[in-house]
Amino acid sequence: MSHDPNCIFCKIVDGKIPSRKVYEDEEILVFHDIAPWAPVHLLLIPKHHVPSMVEVTPSDAPLLGRMMTMIPELMLASGVTNGYRIMVNTGQDGGQEVAHLHLHAIGGPRPWAKG
Ligand code: AMP
Repeated sequence: MSHDPNCIFCKIVDGKIPSRKVYEDEEILVFHDIAPWAPVHLLLIPKHHVPSMVEVTPSDAPLLGRMMTMIPELMLASGVTNGYRIMVNTGQDGGQEVAHLHLHAIGGPRPWAKG
């Protein structure tokens, strides 16, 4: 399983950096964003290091499908009942700051700090 020792999200997977975990299985970790845009702001990441959507291949379809399809249950469990935004910033022009693939799931009553 690929791993980047300099990657902040790989360090979260390893427990070297603390996070507020929401869900975890053998291949996916979900935790609260440290700088939330909204009352609920979750990040979903693959545990192995994939830098961004640019590197995704058809073999990642089951993993990405699982990540997408667990969002409704996670948001409901977090008390989000009136809709949410799913976002995958990709590369420099996409505004990606952390180079480890992640899905943002953002919701809760407005106003939001951003978005
Ligand atoms: P992006 O701009 O799509 O790469 O988003 C990266 C997100 O990671 C931002 O929303 C940050 O607030 C969040 N983030 C960065 N470091 C941490 C951390 N240690 N724990 C939780 N979220 C983080």
